[in-house]
Amino acid sequence: MNKTDIKSMTIEELTQAIVELKQPKFRAGQVYSWLHQKNVESFDEMTNLSKELRKTLDDNFELLNCSIEKKLVSEYNDTIKYLFKLNDGEYIESVVMKYKYGYTICISTQVGCKMKCSFCASALDGFFRNLEPSEMLAQVYKAQKDLGIRISHIVLMGMGEPLDNYDNVIRFLDLITNDKGVNIGARHISLSTCGIVPKIYELQKQKLQITLSVSLHAPSDEIRTKIMPVNLKWGVDELLEACRSYTSHTSRRISFEYAMINGVNDTDECANLLALKLKGMLCHINLIPANEVKENDYIRSTNERLMAFSKILESKGITVTVRRSMGGDIDASCGQLRRGYEKGGNGFENSCKN
Ligand code: SAH
Repeated sequence: MNKTDIKSMTIEELTQAIVELKQPKFRAGQVYSWLHQKNVESFDEMTNLSKELRKTLDDNFELLNCSIEKKLVSEYNDTIKYLFKLNDGEYIESVVMKYKYGYTICISTQVGCKMKCSFCASALDGFFRNLEPSEMLAQVYKAQKDLGIRISHIVLMGMGEPLDNYDNVIRFLDLITNDKGVNIGARHISLSTCGIVPKIYELQKQKLQITLSVSLHAPSDEIRTKIMPVNLKWGVDELLEACRSYTSHTSRRISFEYAMINGVNDTDECANLLALKLKGMLCHINLIPANEVKENDYIRSTNERLMAFSKILESKGITVTVRRSMGGDIDASCGQLRRGYEKGGNGFENSCKN
């Protein structure tokens, strides 16, 4: 018999299932709290339930957890990177970052990725599978437990493309913001996409208060197609039209990610064209010095280039932030740790050139 993935169930679904097992309704609240507030990883830990009920639950439901395969802590103790092992033996990565305002976790939404952005390590070994909502939750719960902290912010910016696993991601967002669970405010959650245009239109209908980040990385089809194959399907103008629609439906500012790669997308022309295309949009640009990955030859832009690029954008009225690089010493950028590990390395070797 196929067991049901209990942590992916909403409280309403769980209540129905508990009633079907001839249990009083209030048991559902207890079970939900064990799973989502106390973050237990086995039915046996649910000590206010009878042994018999714990066995019934175990017979009917499965718990998708993740175990810590490797953990890397950065020199200043402000970035912790996990390589998690899932129940089926697949590996995913999550990164916890400590900021003044609290702890943020960057979680994965898929094992591998289909998108094949040329600068990113996540898709180098291809795509394996989607993560279940419970496996996205498990990353948050495990990190909280391991570090003895409460995570206040979540970014869906780890391995995978969230909008390519749309239904599971929406369910995850529903569960993680539920006040009977960890209750993280939607405004403390960012979802990053490479630009799956139809899903942006679908997402806007949900009217969520989350922040949508869009990995733009280039202002023209010519450059973007070279580094992001997804651009062949939905070009820059089509993507930006979807973004304008998103902001007008949700009144939420879009955050554009722009990884600065030397000689590829960091010229003054690029900055000028970018400013022109984003004119009047409710947005800001996050400039990221590209992380150099061993498997490609890209070099990050110089600091001077970054500043000049940022100045042009600002002079044209676009808000710009330059992302502080964290965890460079522990391969904190996407896919790098998993890749080092899968290739037979110990996961601690530097697959990053810098
Ligand atoms: N698939 C989603 C989320 C995962 S990647 C997306 O594309 O947005 C999270 C962010 O890291 C994206 O903006 C991605 O483009 C960026 N990224 C990936 N590899 C990078 C690298 N080597 N240097 C800088 N940013 C990188």
